[in-house]
Amino acid sequence: MAKRLRYDMNACLGCQTCSLVCSTLSGYHSLGESGINIKTKGGLQGKFVCVVCAGCTENISCLEACKTGALKARNGGGVLLDKNKCIGCKKCISACSIGAIHYSDNLDRPIICRQCGTCAKYCPHNCLYMEEVE
Ligand code: SF4
Ligand code: SF4
Ligand code: SF4
Repeated sequence: MAKRLRYDMNACLGCQTCSLVCSTLSGYHSLGESGINIKTKGGLQGKFVCVVCAGCTENISCLEACKTGALKARNGGGVLLDKNKCIGCKKCISACSIGAIHYSDNLDRPIICRQCGTCAKYCPHNCLYMEEVE
């Protein structure tokens, strides 16, 4: 059965391991080339929030905004990017209401989580996991 990435940030210490692991999949070791971003929540609790593709299964706004066909719905939720069809217009970025897509100037394309689960394997605190999708 198809799976998508989910998280429980209670145990997150903000180590950024997940982000750096994700960026290596694109040949970098840099937060700017990661599909997952960990941010501080602010306040005295010092908790962290995870910004990553929610793996939409319907009303996929990034896909609808892309007019070149560079984004395709992924089985199990979310989208897959065809780099060859992407013209870098950034319409997908503004269309995602949770801000899960950002643009990498180094790669000259948007960075979108493809729900591969690699980051989940490396989180030292088991904050990330893959969930089966009906
Ligand atoms: S990038 Fe945003 S709009 Fe696109 S599938 Fe992920 S959460 Fe949904
Ligand atoms: S930046 Fe690429 S993937 Fe995003 S909407 Fe434009 S062509 Fe589509
Ligand atoms: S599931 Fe894969 S593509 Fe998505 S953030 Fe984790 S490593 Fe990156």
